[in-house]
Amino acid sequence: MVAPCEPPSAAPEVPGVKPHPLPKTVAPLPDELLSGWLSRLAAANYCDDAELLAHLRIDTAHGTALDFNVDAAAAAKIANAARVNPDVVRSLTFPAMTPREASLTAQMPFQHCMQCAREGLSLRHWRRAWAFDCQVCGTRLVQTLGKLREEQISGKLIYRARRGAEMLECAARSRGPKQLRRAMRAVTFAMSLKTFRGDPSFAVQNPRSEVRLFCLAAIAAARSHPLAKAAIVSKSIDDYARVALLRAFEKEPRLLAAVDHIAQRCARNRGPMTAVSHN
Ligand SMILES: [Zn+2]
Repeated sequence: MVAPCEPPSAAPEVPGVKPHPLPKTVAPLPDELLSGWLSRLAAANYCDDAELLAHLRIDTAHGTALDFNVDAAAAAKIANAARVNPDVVRSLTFPAMTPREASLTAQMPFQHCMQCAREGLSLRHWRRAWAFDCQVCGTRLVQTLGKLREEQISGKLIYRARRGAEMLECAARSRGPKQLRRAMRAVTFAMSLKTFRGDPSFAVQNPRSEVRLFCLAAIAAARSHPLAKAAIVSKSIDDYARVALLRAFEKEPRLLAAVDHIAQRCARNRGPMTAVSHN
């Protein structure tokens, strides 16, 4: 049995009247996300997120819907129930972002810090595609899904992915679009090797660590090695991967010719019957 949010003495709902303040409140922590704070608030009052939102008469079942935009009415209801200022509620959402930052900020949680998540925390910086280590406790963030167990991930891959994540942050925050374009080209290339399809900006916010870490590492690798060299070490490359490779380099004819040549040679060496997936 879950005890209801509404105290037994609560008055019946009257339109225009705010819900009673909750019996218990919790103070928001630095960098905490609105949805995470609402979850802690719900837990402190012995109910779940959906019950809390229903009690507050907010028309959504998931607090994550409020993380990017909470309207004045909803902020006022939450503030009243939790006995805080509405500005505090609004400060827990994402601030205005450049389109570049927005494309690299996940709408839903895709990674977390095991240490802080155990305490019921959900922090804003975890949603950034470039976030790699928890800024509160320093623990490496882990993806919420994944075939790989932590001990199966090589130290080298983690090292490179962390470097790639730093470069991605610089690229996302740089003035011009050039750095990010270069980073995303490396990601597109990595995706083609992993036969992972979709938008490169989603690949680096992928909840599966085998996709995300590989793509971040590719950003670091692209800085020190020409991408074309990487094609040589690729053991299998299917037609989709070839098309993706060509697309990644379409604006650079010289590189395109080199990559195309390598991709064709890979295909010849492999032969038509031995195609295997890396996944
Ligand atoms: Zn942490």
